[in-house]
Amino acid sequence: MTVTFKQTTESKLDQPVLSIIIPVFNEIEVLPLCLQRLNEVLSKLDLSTEILFIDDGSSDGGTEYLSGQAIINTSIRIIRLSRNFGKEAALTAGLDYARGEAMVILDADLQDPPELIPEMLQQWRNGADVVLMQRRSRAGESWLKRTTAHLFYRILQSLSQSEIPADTGDFRLLSRCAVEALKQLPERNRFMKGLFAWVGMPTVVLKYDRDPRAAGTTKWNYFGLFKLALEGITSFSTSPLRWAMAIGVVAALIGGASGAWIIFQTLVMGHPHIGHSSLISIITFLGGIHLLAVGIVGEYVGKTYIESKQRPNYLIRDIRLAPEDAAKCQGSSLE
Ligand code: UDP
Ligand code: MG
Repeated sequence: MTVTFKQTTESKLDQPVLSIIIPVFNEIEVLPLCLQRLNEVLSKLDLSTEILFIDDGSSDGGTEYLSGQAIINTSIRIIRLSRNFGKEAALTAGLDYARGEAMVILDADLQDPPELIPEMLQQWRNGADVVLMQRRSRAGESWLKRTTAHLFYRILQSLSQSEIPADTGDFRLLSRCAVEALKQLPERNRFMKGLFAWVGMPTVVLKYDRDPRAAGTTKWNYFGLFKLALEGITSFSTSPLRWAMAIGVVAALIGGASGAWIIFQTLVMGHPHIGHSSLISIITFLGGIHLLAVGIVGEYVGKTYIESKQRPNYLIRDIRLAPEDAAKCQGSSLE
């Protein structure tokens, strides 16, 4: 569910065949190049297209730049969110408002090369509902990021019931049918890669080399990535709860056995155990396990709490259309 502050009538516009969805958060440095490369690719396609920018609360002048470009380039549409909601929410807004029969999700920083769009479209025409772009290499990313990403995908794969493919990001093509299916998932905890995988549909995987960021800086830090990883794991698996129980059982068994051994030694063998150090280490160990288990349970309880509030995933401040498009909409307001 979305709440809009302004009514729009975009459904009256001509239906594009291809929608390019680009979430943008403070990307002014890379936007001109992004549009230039995108236009080069799109101009060679004989298709009606829309470029849908989701402005996720930018404050660097990117909004004004895009608004200016929308006057020149009539295929540009801008959805401005009321604040920064995060990439997952921005993507959700994009998929909700894109009107194409096929939709391609791209990062603004050109890490996902737009030049691959024709190949993706070909697969869609051949019948694929999802064209998944899998990273062959990740240039420009640190060893630590590559290793932690690799580990995360492996853990997620082993925990989750739906097959979440390794080394894929949000760069993909989705058919209208796949997007409509995705829209039926109402959850507030939106780990998009997992949601895409849950939907299924005929999927083709294409490999590509992920370029380094063309300009600007990444919006992610390790804390953000850790949060996303936790989100991914807890949204798609309840295994950690079972793990917590299993660890508790093993710890209790070890504790019980060592207690029995101490009683046996004291009463039968006449070797009384004295000293606090072993006691303290056992208490600390068990205390740690308790806190870990409570933390894991808390994570799931917290998720249930967020879901129960039923807040919208994002709020839209306004939707900006190119003047030509706006003129076609009777009664529409253009800022
Ligand atoms: N992004 C967004 N909202 C955010 C953070 C990022 O819309 O809160 C967009 C960002 O503008 C870019 C894409 O998501 O188009 C990927 O972000 P980034 O390149 O910083 O992530 P990385 O590629 O380093 O994982
Ligand atoms: Mg990036």
